[in-house]
Amino acid sequence: MTDRLATVPADAWAELAEGNARFRTGSPEHPRQDGTRRAGVASGQAPHAAVLGCSDSRASAELLFDQGLGDLFVVRNAGQVLSPDALGSIEYAVAVLGVPLVVVLAHDACGAVASAVAAEGADAPALPVHIAELIEPIRVAVRAVPAADRADAVAAGARHLQDTVGALLRDSEIVADGVAAGTLAVVGAVYHLADGAVEPRIAVGVSTA
Ligand SMILES: [Zn+2]
Repeated sequence: MTDRLATVPADAWAELAEGNARFRTGSPEHPRQDGTRRAGVASGQAPHAAVLGCSDSRASAELLFDQGLGDLFVVRNAGQVLSPDALGSIEYAVAVLGVPLVVVLAHDACGAVASAVAAEGADAPALPVHIAELIEPIRVAVRAVPAADRADAVAAGARHLQDTVGALLRDSEIVADGVAAGTLAVVGAVYHLADGAVEPRIAVGVSTA
């Protein structure tokens, strides 16, 4: 197993921010993707961050943070919903793998958020059952947005991100304890599809300034 690239929250965030800067300026290094790295991590992993992101085909965490094999522990579903299995996966990354950073990564023009906004509209058709179940937490976020902005997917997405980070800290003792101990940070960020920038919005336990 190779050593962990970053062992403290600030270094882990710096690594991701630098990788995103390389990606968005068109100079990705595609680091740690060669045979040596592959062999090095075959016997074990020590990722420096966990990412809860959307399944959207344009929002691959390893690409947009310019990371390699063994770097990120990634959980994805449509709309980066903190489902029980997503929460369990994040807790595994923190408690067993020892990641110092969890990133909740939203993105603009998210189809899951758009579906949740549409579902809250008058006379909206019923959604297929599994989709309805998945996006229910996003619908809760839509309903929490002031009525005048409720049709605005940007406002709904921002609220959903805020709710998700809040739920992670509230529902996971492992995450809350790590943050309290200073060994773990949680960052809520938005990935912008057009220019490739990851914009941190919420930071708990680390400075993203
Ligand atoms: Zn999405």
